Amino acid sequence: MQDNKKCIADLHNLPKETFRKIMREVSKAKAVDYNARMGAVCPVCGAERCRVTRSIPWYGNSRERYHRCVECGHCFKSVEAA
Ligand SMILES: [Zn+2]
Repeated sequence: MQDNKKCIADLHNLPKETFRKIMREVSKAKAVDYNARMGAVCPVCGAERCRVTRSIPWYGNSRERYHRCVECGHCFKSVEAA
């Protein structure tokens, strides 16, 4: 846990733009694609159109949403690209 905290502190010492870039790549890697027609597909059970629990306004050319799967209860994030 402490190693993790130190790692995050080091990240904050990077130039802001570099830090943002990294965070954007990291969050993209963990997120599923949001499809305007299909919504977000649960990465665990494959259920479509998972309910949105939180959405974040457009940032740059992507928008993030948080979902909770009604089938299996898994929480995950999706990214919609413009
Ligand atoms: Zn699911």
